[in-house]
Amino acid sequence: MAHALYDTNNIFAKILRSEIPCKKLDECDYTLTFHDINPQAPIHVLIIPKGAYIDLDDFAQNASSEEQAAFLVAIGNEAKLTGASENGYRLITNIGGFGHQEVPHLHAHILGGEPIGSMRAR
Ligand code: AMP
Repeated sequence: MAHALYDTNNIFAKILRSEIPCKKLDECDYTLTFHDINPQAPIHVLIIPKGAYIDLDDFAQNASSEEQAAFLVAIGNEAKLTGASENGYRLITNIGGFGHQEVPHLHAHILGGEPIGSMRAR
């Protein structure tokens, strides 16, 4: 069951219901991967679980072991598929207000294809 605070009308929920399009890269039973609409690097993809989870905290507490494993495996697969893993990449998942999460459905960003810069440059 979805977290009581999960917003079923968030933009990624709409993508999962095919109500709005996305530039899909890959999917499996538990995850969908698509290109970020406003890329911050030559490679910028988002991996999301198909289940209704707000963020990584919600996912860690409430997702099944299968969903959790599939999400982690998908991140590795997509890093390879995009070529990001060749030279390294940044993996980000923003959580909540201080984390500046804009879309309240768990997503992992893979940023790569060029040097991403220091974590201190923020
Ligand atoms: P965050 O701040 O981690 O919640 O990031 C949300 C990300 O979703 C941003 O990088 C947006 O560019 C991206 N985004 C928002 N709407 C879409 C969309 N319709 N398709 C693909 N990416 C999107």
